[in-house]
Amino acid sequence: MHKLIRQLYPLCRSITGEGLRGTLKEIQNHIPLTLHEVPTGTRVLDWEVPKEWNIHAARIETLNGEIVVDFADCNLHVVGYSNPIDRIVTRDELSAHVHTIPDQPELVPYRTGYYAENWGFCLAHKVWDGMQDWSYRVYIDSNLTQGSLTYGELVVPGQSPEEALISVHCCHPSLANDNLSGIAVATEFARYILGRANRLTYRILFIPATIGSITWLARNEAVIPRIAHGLVLSCVGDTGTYHYKRSRRGDTVIDRTVAHILANRNSPHEIMPFSPYGYDERQYCSPGYDLPVGCFMRSPNGTFQEYHTSADNLDFVKPDALGDSFSVLVDIFNLLEQNVVYLRTDGRGEPQLGRRGLYRAISGQKDHAAVQMALLWVLNLADGRYSLLDMAERSGLAFEQLAAAANLASQAGLLRRAEPR
Ligand code: ZN
Repeated sequence: MHKLIRQLYPLCRSITGEGLRGTLKEIQNHIPLTLHEVPTGTRVLDWEVPKEWNIHAARIETLNGEIVVDFADCNLHVVGYSNPIDRIVTRDELSAHVHTIPDQPELVPYRTGYYAENWGFCLAHKVWDGMQDWSYRVYIDSNLTQGSLTYGELVVPGQSPEEALISVHCCHPSLANDNLSGIAVATEFARYILGRANRLTYRILFIPATIGSITWLARNEAVIPRIAHGLVLSCVGDTGTYHYKRSRRGDTVIDRTVAHILANRNSPHEIMPFSPYGYDERQYCSPGYDLPVGCFMRSPNGTFQEYHTSADNLDFVKPDALGDSFSVLVDIFNLLEQNVVYLRTDGRGEPQLGRRGLYRAISGQKDHAAVQMALLWVLNLADGRYSLLDMAERSGLAFEQLAAAANLASQAGLLRRAEPR
């Protein structure tokens, strides 16, 4: 995953353009992603697909031709969607187009102006402080054309038409945790589910933030009712603790699943209420859809020093952190894969466990008291209404203990799967 991040890091992504397209094409080397191109001007909900933006070079030079800021060194130097320009401007005029972070004078900030029809540069505050000439030459070789918005989609069919949606944004240039970590973990997760048979159908979206999810939603009205669970992944490569932002509904199966998995990993984490600020969960959870989609993160957007700066770089994301985030994701969806409803074949009284060899099966296990409790809970709650997650919550036991007990009881002929609710 860290290798993929290193490959994608130099590309100048935006909400459209060759950097985004090139990123999705690189992902196609790992998974069979379908690329969709939606033309500029297409109406999507209340929005319109913007012009395609591409950039080739940009710099600020002294009048002697000395380059003081160069896009070739760092693609954060240009405000995203900057118009082309080639002019000599006074420092005073330039100051209205320059973004710095005075509190973090070494770092280059990340700024965009998608709908601003403007131009601008981002630079380290200490560099700007050192620029004391009367005027400078500014040069941006970019273009805004009738092109298209690109997004990537992978559908992995399962036994059930019920869908699990995973959505990651891929519209930030050289920022590693914010965008590339989600891309890498989602790609690895896609490889994982492609390698096995699944109950759920999975749909993984690689999209530019906001306009991408709005575009996808506008084009997929028929799919939306099938989305049973969804996660937006972001900032999953830093070493911060896990944060999960609940869906707008707050008590959906995905909300309860993530809370259960994180609680049972015995590591610090925080469950946050929904708020209409953040990533694409804002679109999936808009009132006209109200989908069961939460947002899974390590350090949330806006809460870490490196956020939206040049310090969100390849050193900030750690292979171990990516690996652990991946394993949590696997745990979450493994739970959902197994979260079915059981029904006792004959629910009258408790079945006689000894006669069926179940006491022997239990006593052989090291935590046999817990296994026995799990079995008693499963046999009691298997009335065709409780899912295994319901049982885990009601009993206070771990989901996997109940799933194991349900397996044991099924093999003994005491349970069968009820029709999905
Ligand atoms: Zn961001």
